[in-house]
Amino acid sequence: MEPIIAGNWKMNMGPGESRELVIKLLQLVSDVQNREIIVIPPFTSLPGVAEVLCNTKIKLGAQNMHWERGGAYTGEISGLFLKSLGCEYVIIGHSERRHIMLEPDEWLNRKLKTALDIGLISIFCVGETAQEREQGMTQQVIERQLNQGLRGIENEVHKMIIAYEPVWAIGSGKTATPKSAAEVHKFIRSKLKKPVTILYGGSVKPENVDALMQEEEIDGVLVGGASLKPESFARIIKFESKR
Ligand code: PEP
Repeated sequence: MEPIIAGNWKMNMGPGESRELVIKLLQLVSDVQNREIIVIPPFTSLPGVAEVLCNTKIKLGAQNMHWERGGAYTGEISGLFLKSLGCEYVIIGHSERRHIMLEPDEWLNRKLKTALDIGLISIFCVGETAQEREQGMTQQVIERQLNQGLRGIENEVHKMIIAYEPVWAIGSGKTATPKSAAEVHKFIRSKLKKPVTILYGGSVKPENVDALMQEEEIDGVLVGGASLKPESFARIIKFESKR
């Protein structure tokens, strides 16, 4: 399987900036092979980015979706709309949505089920806070997130991607050591019924990606801040590994 390098732009990059970023990125990665590259812009940038990416090697994802296909849900976005724009992936349960927008596991479970039904590949995020880690609760928290998020779809987990993103490492400049990330990935794998792709996320940068990708347990990375600059994201995509 090709390593997956996904860039989550969060609430950054308007439509014009997004197009410029992806045009530059395409130039920088024109020689790259054997990598699955995904960009995940804000909703309003999706049409413009989709147009630029048409028939290229970079895939498109969205940052969130509602579990219903349509209806009276003001301010929400249907996964069907995302698909019609060319999205193949959708992030479900990013920690910023769990902790700032207070999305409960039960909502994430519904979203994962809908994404499966309509054929979007979920990038399902799990991870512990700093306090939970200090209290030795990392495994317990992740097990709960997996059990509740995947309830009823345990046998379909191979159709999704899991992203292990320790909350304390997101946007903080602190990264899990490759060994500790790999340990958690191993734990996640041991709890799932099918083989699954697991990305690491949390302050991944050009300076630390090579060491992270040395770990066999790490199938790729989900990148926030460092995916906003085409040069740094391209360097991450071109990580060097002796694996
Ligand atoms: C993220 O948004 O998923 C993320 C990992 O952010 P950052 O790389 O900025 O820590």
